[in-house]
Amino acid sequence: MSENDCIFCKIVRGELDAEIIREDDQVMAFHDINGRASVHALVIPKQHVASLAEIGELPDTVTKRLLEASEEVARELGVAESGYAVRINNGLDAGQEVFHLHLHVLGGERIRMP
Ligand code: AMP
Ligand code: ZN
Repeated sequence: MSENDCIFCKIVRGELDAEIIREDDQVMAFHDINGRASVHALVIPKQHVASLAEIGELPDTVTKRLLEASEEVARELGVAESGYAVRINNGLDAGQEVFHLHLHVLGGERIRMP
């Protein structure tokens, strides 16, 4: 899928609405449209990479920012102290549906491994 019709690139470009939590020049965080926990946010790089297979294309600073922003989002949404899970569904067997790399930030309740 190209960046033109990638839904997360459309959110980054402001062409598609999302409940944005925070953003900087490198990453963006917004609420998952189909939240499956009390807190369910997504953290994405603004640069389009499909999955971890392409993570080498991201500057190291962006890779680090994805994790820092996950903690910032958890703090902002009030689950940093109670705990939260950061999850990447990578590829078909993991159920990846959107092929723009994203980190799920899940919390507000006990998050279990599948
Ligand atoms: P994954 O299975 O890891 O690819 O998850 C993709 C996630 O993106 C799912 O949890 C969807 O609910 C979420 N999602 C899809 N479209 C949107 C959207 N327009 N805004 C926010 N979240 C979305
Ligand atoms: Zn994209």
